[in-house]
Amino acid sequence: MPNEVPKRQTYLPYGRQCLDDEDIEQVIGVLKSPMITQGPLIEEFEQAIANYAGTKYAVAFSNGTAALHGAYYAAGITKGDEIITTPMTFVATTNAALYLGARPVFSDIDSQTYNLDPLQIEEKITSRTKAIVSVDFTGQPVDYDSIRKIADYHKLVYISDGAHSLGAKYKGEPVGKQADMTMFSFHPVKPITTGEGGIIVTNNEKYSEKLRLFRSHGIVKNDDKNKDQPWFYEMIDLGMNYRMTDIQAALGLSQLKKINYFIERRNEIASQYNQAFKSLDKVTIPSKLEVVKSGYHLYVLSLNLSKLESSREEIFRFLRRKGIGVHVHYIPVYKHPYYQSIGYSSDRCVNAEKLYDMMITLPIFPKMTDEDVLDVVRVVTSIF
Ligand SMILES: *Cc1c(COP(=O)(O)O)cnc(C)c1O
Repeated sequence: MPNEVPKRQTYLPYGRQCLDDEDIEQVIGVLKSPMITQGPLIEEFEQAIANYAGTKYAVAFSNGTAALHGAYYAAGITKGDEIITTPMTFVATTNAALYLGARPVFSDIDSQTYNLDPLQIEEKITSRTKAIVSVDFTGQPVDYDSIRKIADYHKLVYISDGAHSLGAKYKGEPVGKQADMTMFSFHPVKPITTGEGGIIVTNNEKYSEKLRLFRSHGIVKNDDKNKDQPWFYEMIDLGMNYRMTDIQAALGLSQLKKINYFIERRNEIASQYNQAFKSLDKVTIPSKLEVVKSGYHLYVLSLNLSKLESSREEIFRFLRRKGIGVHVHYIPVYKHPYYQSIGYSSDRCVNAEKLYDMMITLPIFPKMTDEDVLDVVRVVTSIF
């Protein structure tokens, strides 16, 4: 490894929140108000996200994983059902199906976009399949139209894990209304943050009602009975306590005002990386479908290992030593010990495994300065 490039003074993580004084003021405002949870800001935040995504309904949750759990519940997914999804995702996408006793079935990715390959989905469909769950990996929208067609033809629910893609666009439209339900996550590394938080957007009223039921213990208030028994409520299904707080919602509302700037800044950084790395024959820059605008939640470089003297591990360690917080997203889900122990040991998605062996995630987040971007470019190009 070359050693002439200097180490950064501070460690640059792969992703980080972008908060300002306005965000902090809004949170303080809630803390001084009478309602810190189940207050008015939840609905305001839900409305704002629904407007932004272009859907009729939005139901907020305590985190994105809870939101996915809710979406699978609303879709009627239950014991013995199957969902078809990508192995190139965070474990939460499939864990939420396991919570309901359903079985995730992994379908391979396209080796160019790294997203679910629509051409391989149909062969995974069985009589037990209930839903297709696509993931907008790195913030790049999937081929929604193709997946939508397959879901409709086979009468499956189409759920999108958009944890990476709030603010991204598919055919000029914001991500959110292409699938039957779409989840956004507000974890600090995601496009906007509420600390922890998640939401489901949908145009389907029945789903939105089920999501609300599930989020709050399976409890409903019955207007008729409330007339003579004003205290009355009843629990009609086994729900969870997955509610978002007003503290989170206030932060979300404030963050949402800045999303367009966040996405533009991420795109700017990505194009600087692309410019700097596209002529290097030892790496491949991410490729993008014509019809999408990526949110660039992650910037994934893939290494042409046959042209390199060093291993991915050596390159990874070198970059970390130089203060560049590289990462690897993701280990194919079925390779995790828990999944291996529940019957996935013979699963093999060739493209996902190939990508996993050669990928490396570079830092990308709105608060990165031009100097930070140059540091990454300098260190990375010094290797290649
Ligand atoms: C972050 C993430 C989740 C889970 O969201 P949380 O808000 O952290 O629970 C699910 N799927 C993907 C692809 C994610 O990146």
